[in-house]
Amino acid sequence: MTALLEVHDLHVAYGQVEAVRGVSFSLQEGHIGSIIGPNGAGKTTLLASLMGLLPPARGKVCFDGVDVARLDVEARLERGLCLVPEQRELFGDMTVLDNLVLGAYVKKLATAELRLRLDEAYARFPRLAERRDQRADTLSGGERQMLALSRALMSRPRLLMLDEPSLGLAPLIVTEILTEIGHLRSMGLSVLLVEQNARAALKVSSEGHVLEGGQIAISGPAEQLINDDRVRHAYLGGA
Ligand code: ATP
Repeated sequence: MTALLEVHDLHVAYGQVEAVRGVSFSLQEGHIGSIIGPNGAGKTTLLASLMGLLPPARGKVCFDGVDVARLDVEARLERGLCLVPEQRELFGDMTVLDNLVLGAYVKKLATAELRLRLDEAYARFPRLAERRDQRADTLSGGERQMLALSRALMSRPRLLMLDEPSLGLAPLIVTEILTEIGHLRSMGLSVLLVEQNARAALKVSSEGHVLEGGQIAISGPAEQLINDDRVRHAYLGGA
């Protein structure tokens, strides 16, 4: 089976400094892959480059069999790649509803289809329905993450990339968000997850990759990584 995403020998540099140094991995359709690793390992750089925000110095990014490594962000969005960045980048002075509607802008949708997707978003996180007319910049951190995730899903991406969705959130909300990410997998969506919260991320993932110094140090099925001594000591608190 060909993978949905196949990254081959990807290098990304900021000037002379190479932050991603020869990364290769793949993700099958319907899987959740986690990228874990220490601060500064290159996780955010890797996602930004997969989305087309940073041009690669070299390497291949094959999405659904086509090399997209030189395509711009819009072209990648159209093909079904979507990134929720760490800062969540909502439109603060717009309402929850308007943020959701903007998430669907890539595809020109009929009103009925737009309504259907809004209903789905509200069913997923009822708290967003209660706050649909509230400005995004007045939401709590957890609600903002729910909105960022829901906004990304409005375009029905094929591959959703999430940069640190649990950052700064209370443990209960982290569970709620990661559980919802697990549900998305059962709906057939493919997810690439970057997380500091390695244990919680691996729990909802099919496979994991440890990124250290811009290179993949360990790769394997998520269950295997959770039980790997090196991973446990470095990233799972040794427990
Ligand atoms: P964290 O978990 O702390 O967010 P990360 O694994 O996501 O870290 P990156 O943010 O991708 O790591 O950073 C990888 C390396 O690239 C770091 O050494 C960082 O200092 C460097 N870097 C990131 N952004 C830039 C930039 N705009 N210009 C120069 N160097 C950068």
